[in-house]
Amino acid sequence: MVNVPKLFGSLTFNERVMKDRLPAKTFKTFRAMVEKGLPLTRELADMMAYAMKDWALENGCTHFTHWFQPMTGITAEKHDSFIEPAADGRVIMDFSGKDLIQGEPDASSFPSGGLRATFEARGYTAWDPTSYAFIKDSCLYIPTAFCSYTGDILDKKTPLLRSIAVLDKAAKRVLDILGIATEKVITNLGPEQEYFLVDKAMWEKRKDLVYTGRTLFGAKPPKGQEMEDHYFGVIKPRVKAFMEELNEELWKLGIPAKTEHNEVAPAQHELAPVYTSVNLACDYNQLTMEYMKRIALKHNMVCLLHEKPFDGVNGSGKHNNWSLSTAEGRNLLDPGEDAYHNNQFLLFLAAILKGVDEYQDVLRGTVASAGNDHRLGANEAPPAIVSIFLGSELTGVLEAIAEDREYKAHGHIQMKLSGNTIAAVSKDNTDRNRTSPFAFTGNKFEFRMVGSQASLACTNTYLNTIVTEELEWIADKLEGTPEAELDKAVKALVKDVYLAHSRIVFNGNGYTDEWVEEAKKRGLSNNKSTPEALACMGAKKNVDLVVKHGIFTKAEVLSRCEIQYELYNKTLNIEALTMLDMLHKDLLPAAETYLKDLAAMAVDVKSLGLKPDTVFIKKLQEAASAMYKDGTALEKELQKAEQIEDQKKAGTAYLTKVLPAMEALRKSGDAVEALLGQKYLPYPTYGDLLFGINC
Ligand code: ADP
Ligand code: MG
Repeated sequence: MVNVPKLFGSLTFNERVMKDRLPAKTFKTFRAMVEKGLPLTRELADMMAYAMKDWALENGCTHFTHWFQPMTGITAEKHDSFIEPAADGRVIMDFSGKDLIQGEPDASSFPSGGLRATFEARGYTAWDPTSYAFIKDSCLYIPTAFCSYTGDILDKKTPLLRSIAVLDKAAKRVLDILGIATEKVITNLGPEQEYFLVDKAMWEKRKDLVYTGRTLFGAKPPKGQEMEDHYFGVIKPRVKAFMEELNEELWKLGIPAKTEHNEVAPAQHELAPVYTSVNLACDYNQLTMEYMKRIALKHNMVCLLHEKPFDGVNGSGKHNNWSLSTAEGRNLLDPGEDAYHNNQFLLFLAAILKGVDEYQDVLRGTVASAGNDHRLGANEAPPAIVSIFLGSELTGVLEAIAEDREYKAHGHIQMKLSGNTIAAVSKDNTDRNRTSPFAFTGNKFEFRMVGSQASLACTNTYLNTIVTEELEWIADKLEGTPEAELDKAVKALVKDVYLAHSRIVFNGNGYTDEWVEEAKKRGLSNNKSTPEALACMGAKKNVDLVVKHGIFTKAEVLSRCEIQYELYNKTLNIEALTMLDMLHKDLLPAAETYLKDLAAMAVDVKSLGLKPDTVFIKKLQEAASAMYKDGTALEKELQKAEQIEDQKKAGTAYLTKVLPAMEALRKSGDAVEALLGQKYLPYPTYGDLLFGINC
């Protein structure tokens, strides 16, 4: 039996360890500097480094690394050992304050979107003391931000930290108007991570999974997810063993892994941690994804984090549960029993309504990726249209305010399930709406468009900045209002906001075609593909937003778009090449071998004086040649797209020419696969992959 409280955080240099190892005064000064966001003195850094090194060595570390999050979307690290040669031929283990605070990795091979020429390769990493250092594989990991020699930011953490700081300031301005004092406003995040597990031996036989993380071919199996028997189903022993080991490893790192369950699609699962401050949550999510992959391998499975590994069954997302609270523990998105009279809640709600409406295209842009394109708008994920679900209670409150009516709160209702045997269940003010991309879920908003393999940093950077913009707008309007007039002023402001932005509120089923039509009438944007969504990120209004709040420079925003275009194009390029490879090396030879055997059989039948039935031979032959033709067409489109130098134009070519050619090839390839006899199948089928572990 594991002792979870003892295990939890045992590999992190957390506050308890700091308190144990630092003089009380040093610890207090350190805390105060971090709280205020002030740079550490050299002396303090040296003391922290000393304590950290001691702790790391006691825990078996030989190396340290500055851990950062470049624009690749994953993490990066370069290990240095602690050794320092001594005069007598021995070594000492050394680690100074300077080693802790700053690093200088070569930055030349990280994506910069044209911000920096290769010859200006110098990059800097700077310690982020708000995220704990931790131990992994005998190495001390120090979370850091990453920038270039010229000061351009090259990572995902720095803008997030900036957005947290501006949001704190703006939120405090609004709270101040209401007479609510707080040390700090904290942005919270609880991301639910979806993933698939497949058998490793099968995975190895699928080039598409190996190279691209998703299946590019695969005929539909007789059974998919239609029986709805996987969601919350009994967790199979092999998967359970994986989950147990994963939890233990995450707990050691101080990651509060909490909920685990089977998801809707066969072989699909979910893990949700307890929410934490957004900076930590983003770091933790990166580690969670990494550990999911590495621990799956130990169990002879492969964890697929791609947004759409399989056609025809659900894809995976990362539900972004977001809220604001004060350092004293007040949740600013908690409507309480009576939202109508809760000025604080109403103002923060207004900020979110206005912001999500005005910057819906930006929010969509932050989740744009080739993988997520297969998910958004497919019938299991929220559509590419951003809308907010509020539920009937909150919508009722806003409608009443808009019509200058009083609203009578319903409060919590108790539901009796059975006599006295089962305790009464308290009913929430809002039901769930699984189809909404941005849903109010009681005391937080859940943004469901984020893709399962994406970093959470970008979405939350923008979400924080958008809400900052609107809170500042609110503060500008209300500052100086006499207390006696505040209630009236708040209602008037909320009324204006709701009247101007109610189009973003949609409580119905977001999966229907009627909603797509209705959203169009309301003028909501519906950017179905990554190239379309990315084009919005560079629009003036959206660049102005982040420049105004000091999150990015204009050049940084545009370079980030460039990186995303490149990533999209490269992804499609690899996918198309993989399909062609599978066509020529797997599918065609399989069809040909089968045809050869069938032809030989026909000859045998004829030699017996019988008339061979060639209907099936003909069918297979025709299917194979249709597939080959589609392959040739894809090759042509791919060659054309590869010639285009401008990334944006290339993106359009990949989207409008290459992708449809891939879809055509997939269709004809799957038709061939469906005709092949078992022994001719060139790779494990959907049935093998989806039900292999779970049967
Ligand atoms: P669901 O029923 O939506 O699938 P889960 O339990 O799977 O719920 O996940 C909900 C996530 O929301 C968890 O990570 C949880 O910690 C997080 N969460 C709960 N309350 C808040 C809050 N106030 N702010 C941010 N996240 C929260
Ligand atoms: Mg969940």
